[in-house]
Amino acid sequence: MDCLFCKIINGDIPSTKVYEDDKCYAFRDISPQGPTHILVIPKEHIQSVNEINDANKDTVGHIFTVISKIAKEEGIAEEGYRVVSNIGEYGQQTVPHLHFHIIGGRNMKWPPG
Ligand code: AMP
Ligand code: ZN
Repeated sequence: MDCLFCKIINGDIPSTKVYEDDKCYAFRDISPQGPTHILVIPKEHIQSVNEINDANKDTVGHIFTVISKIAKEEGIAEEGYRVVSNIGEYGQQTVPHLHFHIIGGRNMKWPPG
């Protein structure tokens, strides 16, 4: 499949791995928006939050346990951080493979620009 994040999972495109198991893969964002910026993605190709359903909800739930674990390991859990998933055109999703950004290590304004 011609998908950037599927290629990262397969190792066809290099990435800096943070965590991996049978269901998901986490790696450092190439253009970090904070001192910590990690992407967590399902190994199964799911396009976006719009494609989350009963068949893949366990994987998505599992990803959130991984997000919680990574935040603690990265030392950002206590001060707080942001989890973001961009969806489609208005959400400015640039890679059509479901991903959750973990961004932390700085205080972020809300709402975002
Ligand atoms: P989004 O705009 O929400 O679709 O997020 C896509 C993210 O993927 C952006 O934050 C990019 O910086 C990041 N990205 C794109 N290519 C790579 C890559 N080869 N390795 C790591 N992160 C990437
Ligand atoms: Zn994919």
